Amino acid sequence: MILVTGGAGYIGAHAVMELQRAGYEVIVLDDLSYGHRELVEQVLQVPLIVGDIHDRALLDRVFATYPITAVMHFAAYIAVGESVSDPAKYYRNNVVGTLTLLEAMTAASIQQFVFSSTCALYGIPQFVPITEDHPQAPISPYAASKQMVERMLSDFEVAYGLKSVRFRYFNAAGADPSGQLGEDHNPETHLIPLVLLTAIGKQSAIQILGTDYPTRDGTCIRDYIHVTDLAQAHVLGLKYLEKGGHSDVFNLGNGNGFSVREVIDAARQVTGREIQIVERDRRSGDPPILVGSSDKAQKTLDWQPQYSDLNEILAHAWQWHQHRHGASGHPAVKK
Ligand code: UDP
Repeated sequence: MILVTGGAGYIGAHAVMELQRAGYEVIVLDDLSYGHRELVEQVLQVPLIVGDIHDRALLDRVFATYPITAVMHFAAYIAVGESVSDPAKYYRNNVVGTLTLLEAMTAASIQQFVFSSTCALYGIPQFVPITEDHPQAPISPYAASKQMVERMLSDFEVAYGLKSVRFRYFNAAGADPSGQLGEDHNPETHLIPLVLLTAIGKQSAIQILGTDYPTRDGTCIRDYIHVTDLAQAHVLGLKYLEKGGHSDVFNLGNGNGFSVREVIDAARQVTGREIQIVERDRRSGDPPILVGSSDKAQKTLDWQPQYSDLNEILAHAWQWHQHRHGASGHPAVKK
């Protein structure tokens, strides 16, 4: 049985679904501070323990009660801007909470760990596509918190034999093709859901945060990876550890970069709706270009992304948003 922390969140829930498709039994631990109970109980239909990764007594009980062989750890705070204004919240949850989880695992002799890390730990890229050996220079407490956990994992392996696979994500996007799961953050800060919420009429315009970047159209370029591809990589990472693979770190991206304007244009095509834009100043801490190389994951884990086309990523996200918010809003306007 696999314990998925944060399994009621966006990426965690998709990982649970892929684990189920691969035949694994799964149990979710989530404090529901941001996650959604109904995703776990009604859509995924796996046991949900509502609790906190800081609660050592709870973790000990969970590990004593269920035949857990590995942990996939998604429970973390993710808002980069908030991490700058409230770093204590990020270090406490993402670092101290994870330390408690790792200590409980070690005490229970559970030695396989799949970790949700981030490309943000590379900081402002010195070259693209970014490979795993790119120098690390996190510029936010969020990114630093993930880097600290990666370091703890290396030290735990040396001292206690814990094996881990760490995935550094680029921009997770899209939704499960079944339409049952998708992205539902509150507050929402990510580009693709905000663009689609604009298409659906929940907000009047999408803000373009910076139009003077040194890129082909002046807006930031990002590498959007389909969340189902991301989730499949986690299952492959787990299988790799089960087969005795050594601890390792892998980028997970699409390998293609799209600008903010290109994402908005593609969303107009996919939705058939008008999407108004407002040009704004840059958001602090946004590198102009983030594009990753995932060659290592493809070679080592035999990972084959299935949905690398931006329009398909948007179409799946759109299907989810219509399901989630209703297809109402302003009527379709063809561009
Ligand atoms: N972005 C934007 N308008 C928004 C939200 C995001 O222009 O309302 C831009 C943001 O500056 C970045 C890109 O879209 O260049 C992707 O941002 P997101 O927050 O989705 O992911 P990040 O790259 O920050 O992890």
